[in-house]
Amino acid sequence: MHVVIVGAGLAGLSAAVELHQQGHEVQLLEASDGVGGRVRTDEVDGFQLDRGFQILLEAYPEAQDMLDYAALDLHPFAPGATIRLDGGFHRLGDPLREPKQLVSTLKAPIGSPFDKARILAFRLAVSKGTVDDLWKGVGTTAISRFERAGFSQDMIERFLRPLFAGITLDPELQSSSQVVEFVFRMLSMGNAVVPSKGMGAISDQLAARLPAESVQLSTPVAELGKGAVRLEGGNTITADAVVLATGATEASRLAGSADPGWNGVTSMWLAADEAPIDEPVLVLNGEGVSPINSMVVMSNVCQNYATNGKHLMVVSTPSTGAELPAAMRRQLGDWFGGVAESWEEVRVDVIEKAQPKQLPGHDGRAPLSLDNGVWIAGDHRRDASINGAIGSGRAVAQAVSATG
Ligand SMILES: Cc1cc2nc3c(=O)[nH]c(=O)nc-3n(C[C@H](O)[C@H](O)[C@H](O)COP(=O)(O)OP(=O)(O)OC[C@H]3O[C@@H](n4cnc5c(N)ncnc54)[C@H](O)[C@@H]3O)c2cc1C
Repeated sequence: MHVVIVGAGLAGLSAAVELHQQGHEVQLLEASDGVGGRVRTDEVDGFQLDRGFQILLEAYPEAQDMLDYAALDLHPFAPGATIRLDGGFHRLGDPLREPKQLVSTLKAPIGSPFDKARILAFRLAVSKGTVDDLWKGVGTTAISRFERAGFSQDMIERFLRPLFAGITLDPELQSSSQVVEFVFRMLSMGNAVVPSKGMGAISDQLAARLPAESVQLSTPVAELGKGAVRLEGGNTITADAVVLATGATEASRLAGSADPGWNGVTSMWLAADEAPIDEPVLVLNGEGVSPINSMVVMSNVCQNYATNGKHLMVVSTPSTGAELPAAMRRQLGDWFGGVAESWEEVRVDVIEKAQPKQLPGHDGRAPLSLDNGVWIAGDHRRDASINGAIGSGRAVAQAVSATG
């Protein structure tokens, strides 16, 4: 079969790799100047910057199947998190994976001892059965799930809300409880990591498995026809099947599929002579004071992110707005004092369409085909993650292949 795939993000790349491996002829049409979609890395003044702060969870099953982890040279974050609270920083470890953190974790003024026990019980609950079991049924909202699990308001506000606001970009915790359960399971079963060459190395690794001539960059698709796509330049390409892997809004424009709307994020990259935090750990804001949600010294996780003996930090908020960068810098001043003023801004990423909303009942796990030979893949069809995008691309490829 000759399959045209529109969009070279992780979903499109995964679909293309799978179809190519099964002997089909693939043609991957990408509007932008590179592969990877939302997962790309740029070099800026010698620093390595991902497009917005992102991490790979090693336990993602689709990523494990599809990626060569050894070749990516993955660098782990420390398990757990450091919580900014009451003017200080408190380490909340994962005592099962990092026993030396047990004492500091029990002492941390975040939640009661019952909450800490409930975390372990929640981990056990979400680790039962298969990953697919987690996605059965409709679920509820994340906040309802936390309340049902018995977590105190203190634990939710100081730890769970900033943690999941960082992951789902939904500070209201209205996302599906199934997403929360899946992420919790992934966090419990493996490290959060970044490749030594940045998150874009994930996309590059997939693209390298395709014949070079099968990937056409700067080639936006304007319209879909029956078994054909029309390029913005006017040319028409016919195909036995078309896979639309463009992201939700563009898929909706081209093919009329549902657009769930988006959550946005602002990530500020800062260079410093000295790292304000020594560990490769995620720092979460447990004070409930906007705008900062999380902060990481990326050069503690992997030195490649920085250059010339400097450190590189990334500070994020699950929101967008012109006032945010200045407000984030003011808050860094509150946290770290005058030295924060000397930190040099390397880039600010404002990403309105970072993750499609994934409200309860957003069921899209089955491959979606329209009656005109068009298939829809992408994170909006599963869950808004690297795992969801890869899994959706692979599932659609297998379904397309089965028709040929
Ligand atoms: C800032 C940020 C942080 C994130 N953090 C994490 C994280 O920590 N962990 C995690 O697992 N996930 C994270 N995600 C989510 C994850 O990156 C996405 O779920 C995933 O990359 C989506 O892949 P996709 O292929 O479905 O879509 P996309 O990556 O959006 O790919 C769609 C592609 O289609 C192209 N395209 C669009 N229209 C056309 C057209 N008309 N013609 C041709 N091409 C077109 C686009 O240019 C793009 O390359 C994050 C996302 C962002 C933005």
